[in-house]
Amino acid sequence: MSKDIREFSSKVSGEKLTRDMKKYLNLALELGATDARKIGVDEIILDERVRARCYSPRCPDYGTNLNCPPHFDWDLEKTRELINNYKYAIFIMLKVPPEEQTGREYTNPKHPVPGARKMYEIVAKVQSAAFYDGHHLALGFAGGPSCKRVFCSAAECRGIKGEGCRMALKSNPSMHGAFMDAYSMASEMGWKVYPIGKTTESSQIPHALELGLVIIR
Ligand code: SF4
Repeated sequence: MSKDIREFSSKVSGEKLTRDMKKYLNLALELGATDARKIGVDEIILDERVRARCYSPRCPDYGTNLNCPPHFDWDLEKTRELINNYKYAIFIMLKVPPEEQTGREYTNPKHPVPGARKMYEIVAKVQSAAFYDGHHLALGFAGGPSCKRVFCSAAECRGIKGEGCRMALKSNPSMHGAFMDAYSMASEMGWKVYPIGKTTESSQIPHALELGLVIIR
């Protein structure tokens, strides 16, 4: 039998919040994350230049789906204002084999990105758990390539045609699409981040990273 759903309350004790945050850290790890940390929203680094990287060099996913600009149209101030209404978030890291993110084949939509898919799924499951625990305003942000690349590489985005996202419960905007400097945030956690560009070879780095964030309350 499925677990009962707890009655919603607008008031959440510090004790419950602490307990729930621990639960989400454990959940992320159980789902396969390499590490997960509770952070304050003041540790979310927002920078307009991150979004500029969607434009230069132009990302192949730009404009192809609901979760990338220009369809995902929050501006920096709106994002900052929104995030400042919360206190805590779960920051999630997954190490992936370098081969997933390196080489000229990376931009080929047929190149498999299982680590990216896994991060989308971890973020969505943590967000969902928080929702059912009464943190009804929890917001998720995935990592790496866009939802188009991860879920709909062989199909047109239904969302931008007004037909609804075909993966609505799994897809989310990426951290970088929402101005979050995930690299700097990861580095602040002590997680090792390596810049990966078109010319990076898998033998040059020990691992690649997927990063995701769920803002809880
Ligand atoms: S339909 Fe596919 S590409 Fe479009 S927003 Fe949903 S997951 Fe992304």
